[in-house]
Amino acid sequence: MQRARIVVKVGSSSLTDPLSGLLSPDKVRMVAGQLAAILPGASHEVVLVSSGAIAAGRARLGWSATRTLPEKQAASAVGQSLLIEMYQREFACQGRVVAQILLTRSDMEDRRRFVNIRNTFETLLGANVLPIVNENDTVSVNEIRFGDNDSLAALVAILICAQHLILLTDIDGLYTEDPRSDPQARRIVEVANIDDHVRTLGGASGSSVGTGGMRTKIRAAEMATASGVTVSIASAGEPDVIRRLLLGDQIGTRFAARQDRLNARRSWLAHGSRSVGRLFMDEGAVSALRRSGGSLLAPGIERIEGQFDEGAIVDLMDPRGKCIGKGIVSFSAHDLEYFTTLRSKRDQLRGLPEVVHRNDMALLPQ
Ligand code: GLU
Repeated sequence: MQRARIVVKVGSSSLTDPLSGLLSPDKVRMVAGQLAAILPGASHEVVLVSSGAIAAGRARLGWSATRTLPEKQAASAVGQSLLIEMYQREFACQGRVVAQILLTRSDMEDRRRFVNIRNTFETLLGANVLPIVNENDTVSVNEIRFGDNDSLAALVAILICAQHLILLTDIDGLYTEDPRSDPQARRIVEVANIDDHVRTLGGASGSSVGTGGMRTKIRAAEMATASGVTVSIASAGEPDVIRRLLLGDQIGTRFAARQDRLNARRSWLAHGSRSVGRLFMDEGAVSALRRSGGSLLAPGIERIEGQFDEGAIVDLMDPRGKCIGKGIVSFSAHDLEYFTTLRSKRDQLRGLPEVVHRNDMALLPQ
């Protein structure tokens, strides 16, 4: 029987003591206990994405804040070992073996490394080990950072083709208004489609401990649902929250997986890969891509940004400057620049190969 795969992400504030900032053994035990409870039936394969390293390290070092990147990196080096040690102990009591996986953004950007990481996850899950993932904060400088574990968790869910991503935090879901200041605020139970309205609801961030907030959770939900993953945002403090979410209880906010999901390779292209340039398309090209499922041809490109060779990954921009997807180009930036100078003489552009072939393109949902 195919076991359902889930990714559970727990935020720093859900693992630390609000006063001391230290890791809270009770909170860690609650997460471990819940996961252990759903694992014995072997009906689920679970990956845990856990924050808390920087917060725990900061408290252990007696620092009131970590402002600079080296301070955060140092705090995470101290805190990550405390965090994994605590999980190790809690899961050992439940007879479970855990594994630590620390990732950076650049590990995911390279297709070969992405596939390698997937193989590692497959091997661990096959051996009934619970992988516990965090960003490798100690070596992650700004350019290669995820910056928040919500995006990291969404990419892990995409990587292992999970069915459900559960984001546990200190708020019990997405609200119509900020519930801390507006008594009229209502929790949204189900989101069928993440549109601009939903994105604006994420504006008010929740917690002061982690780096996330609602905005990064909605962005994570957007990434994961586009790849066919159901996403839930719920409170880590809700009793038995993980099992109840899996049973379909109406707690938290659930974001429906999209039916027109991207396949695994396109999901990586859309969300894992890093673009090195931008192609600005005219309206005709956008409509050919969106409506007719066509490839991108040279006459449809108005402008180019960046220096890249053929085979590079670029953002595909509509005439209003909105990124509608990504693709792998068949021409260098130099050649494409030249093509744009020939736009008035379209005949000369006819018969050229596709600039981005349909099979090398991932369009984001509208
Ligand atoms: N990786 C960070 C940590 O473990 C947390 C990032 C986040 O809060 O999203 O402390």
